[in-house]
Amino acid sequence: MGEKDRIIPIEDGTTLDHIAPWQASNVLKILGIKKGADITAITAINVPSPKLGRKDIVMIEEKELKKKETDKIALIAPNATINLIRNSKVVKKYEVELPEEIEGLIECPNLTCISHVLEEPIVSKFVVVRKNPLRIRCFYCDKVIEETDIPAAIIIK
Ligand SMILES: [Zn+2]
Repeated sequence: MGEKDRIIPIEDGTTLDHIAPWQASNVLKILGIKKGADITAITAINVPSPKLGRKDIVMIEEKELKKKETDKIALIAPNATINLIRNSKVVKKYEVELPEEIEGLIECPNLTCISHVLEEPIVSKFVVVRKNPLRIRCFYCDKVIEETDIPAAIIIK
C-alpha cells in the first residue's frame, strides 16, 4: 500500500503534514484552535519520518486554511505540507512558503518599537535574516527574534 492509498481519517478538511516535531500544539494555537472551540482535530506527535527524522501531523475537520494562516505556519513549521481533503481524497496539496516580508503576523517584543507607540497602530513588519534556523528582524526597530522565540510572538486572531 503506497503513501497515497493510506486511509485519511477525515472526510473533509485539512491535514498538515511534515510539521517540525513537538510543534503541533503551536500550530493549533496559531490557528486559534483552543479548548472550547467547536472543532474536531487529530494530532500525531513525534512520528518517524524519512524526510525529517521526526514530525508532527495535524488534521482538522471542516477547515480550509487561508494564506495568512499558512504563512504563520511557515514561521514555525517551514517544511509543512498542506493537504486539502474532500470526500476522503486529497484534492490539493502544497507546501507552506516563508514570506520574504512578514507583515501583520508577529508582534514586535520591543515595547518602544514604532509598531506599538503610534496612536494609529501600524502593521508590524519583519524581514527574514536567515532561514535555518530562522531569524527575523523588525523592519522598524531592528529587534531580532530567533526561531525558538517566534511561536510566542505570533499574533493570534
Ligand atoms: Zn520593532
